[in-house]
Amino acid sequence: MTTEIYLDGNATSAVLPAAIDAALDIMGSRFGNPSSTHGAGLKAKAVLDQARACAVRLLGVGDGRLMFNSGATEGIQTSVLSALSALRERRLKGEAIGSLLIYGATEHKAVPESLAHWNHLLGLNLTLQKLPVDGDGAHDLATLRRLAGDAALVCTMAANNETGVVTDLAGIEAVLADTGSGAYWMVDCVQALGKLQLQLSSTRIDYAPFSGHKLYAPKGIGMLYVRAGAPFTPLIMGGGQESGQRSGTENMAGIAALGVVLAALERGDTFRGHAELCGFRARLADSLRAALPGVVFNHAFDKSLPTTLNFSVPGLSSRELMDVFDAAQVRVSAGSACSSAKAAPSYVLDAMGVPLWRSAGAIRMSFGPLADEATIAAACERIERCGAALRASCLIPSERTAVPHDGLLQLGVEGACSWMVLDAASRGCVVIDPLPDAVARIESYVRCQNYQVLAIVSTLPNAGRGMLIDALGRHFDRHAEADEYGWPAASQPLTLENGAVVGAIRIGAQTLAKLACGAGDELRAYLLGAADGDRLPAASVRFAFSARPAQQALRAVSVEQTLLCPTRDEHNQFCTSLTAQASTPLHADAHLDSAGLDAFLQAHPDAVLIDVREAYEFAATIAQDRAGRIAQSVPLSRLAEHASAWLRGKQAPLVFFCRSGNRSVKAAQCLRRLGHQHSYSLTGGLALS
Ligand code: PLP
Repeated sequence: MTTEIYLDGNATSAVLPAAIDAALDIMGSRFGNPSSTHGAGLKAKAVLDQARACAVRLLGVGDGRLMFNSGATEGIQTSVLSALSALRERRLKGEAIGSLLIYGATEHKAVPESLAHWNHLLGLNLTLQKLPVDGDGAHDLATLRRLAGDAALVCTMAANNETGVVTDLAGIEAVLADTGSGAYWMVDCVQALGKLQLQLSSTRIDYAPFSGHKLYAPKGIGMLYVRAGAPFTPLIMGGGQESGQRSGTENMAGIAALGVVLAALERGDTFRGHAELCGFRARLADSLRAALPGVVFNHAFDKSLPTTLNFSVPGLSSRELMDVFDAAQVRVSAGSACSSAKAAPSYVLDAMGVPLWRSAGAIRMSFGPLADEATIAAACERIERCGAALRASCLIPSERTAVPHDGLLQLGVEGACSWMVLDAASRGCVVIDPLPDAVARIESYVRCQNYQVLAIVSTLPNAGRGMLIDALGRHFDRHAEADEYGWPAASQPLTLENGAVVGAIRIGAQTLAKLACGAGDELRAYLLGAADGDRLPAASVRFAFSARPAQQALRAVSVEQTLLCPTRDEHNQFCTSLTAQASTPLHADAHLDSAGLDAFLQAHPDAVLIDVREAYEFAATIAQDRAGRIAQSVPLSRLAEHASAWLRGKQAPLVFFCRSGNRSVKAAQCLRRLGHQHSYSLTGGLALS
């Protein structure tokens, strides 16, 4: 159960074991240069020739060209350069050429970027024209028909990398033929290799780039098909390798490995066929439907490769889904791999007219034709595990009431934050500064843990509580009287350290007191602590919630251990204190790597391991002990609550870790800033340990 399940086949694949053997053989024994005429060179050349012959047969290259190169990005450059150079020459000779460089709206970025680059560099100044797609991701053939007469080059991929949507190449070919278009035609075949039958020379396709690493060959090896008679200009000049079409000593290890993959495809005894792959997709889809209520698939299965599922889940961002899958060691990607880090909306789904929440929250799950029964079964189990983890954390609806969380919760939305004070024993809670974008989260949290919201207060007057009140329904008494900050009329008097008498409400054993501050008392701060009768001594104030300008007013009523919880947190500081130091980069000695961690834990038996990933990631995690020590789960959203206790305790060393090391650095920085000098971060996180 602890092994990784790799479901990101459209990004890249593992290398076929027989292909690894072939690459090792080339690097170890048959290492000759295929251009050398001695025996070692001839042996290498035989491997090269064999791989090419296999590709020629498999792809139906006919009398066209088939050259090896570094991958599809290079193949796309060569195709575009070849077509545009020919267009330029024709124009210089006075021939009429089309004015449009047409490319599908869902093409891989390599295509429009190359078109723009070479169009500029060659001084052609043709117009780049996106060809729209419909809701299923199919190219708009009516638009193509309208534009084809003025097209100089048309680029349409064979299958999409994000959705697996298969292009109607025959339909495009018919439009180009009907309209008598003289345009060159490039078809990016990267995702089609091994999944769609291709007989290239029997089509009108001029250029077809391929990439080895999408189908069990290593990275850095690819192929380019060029139709017989289509213009060709080498991208790389030099020693004349590949018949002068692509100079540079060949990547023989890559070619040998790709040759093995192509031979396996040709034999038909290694990879699974369409029907079996459709069966695997159906099982994964069923598991997703069962585990993630409301899941929506962003493409029609009957129009897509059987190896790709692209889906979105209401209420969940792609980051959250990625994180929970990664915790369960299921590797998927958010939208396209290139934009995963940014989690920007997918331009592919945008082009299909998919609503923004789905395009920004999309996950791609993809596998290759080597996928096996056991992996799919294990993936289905882990999908269920992820669903359970998300349900327990109230991120997706559940029939059962979840175990209630207790203490303080920070909900951040683009630099602003809402806070929730939760008392599990009494199931009472208070919401401070409810952000409109956090309403859905707060509501599902309250409902799924069956909390009663005692008050919804804000640090500014008339800050807008209506949306949350409407969403909460029976979990909040909307008729209870409150002032323009949401503070309940039914509050009790409480005396603070400076003698001021203020209003207070009880949340279980805790007391929340309001404090007017700011020049005209227009701002509110809220103090949280355990009252002593009708007094709240400064030393008992654990937390103070306020906008930054109001923090000075807290000096007279709190102590240096009181944690200040801000209404804005642009720099992920989580909380601060009146004596906190300025934020500085974490000192080098606070970074522990995986090897250093074991030594550190041995030297510090009292050290506490703290997993700062979200609770659903912790719950979905497969293996979670280190040197026999179980980590404590303290998501960053609950860091303030725990920081308060760590600062007041005996200050044992704290070792924070997360998935990749980003969040743990922030946690360690926060604790050091607050004065806990024994705070450390595991560099590289769980991914490297
Ligand atoms: N085209 C498509 C459809 C792809 O999926 C990719 C890879 O992500 C590329 C082109 C670029 O391929 P390579 O990594 O071989 O340069």
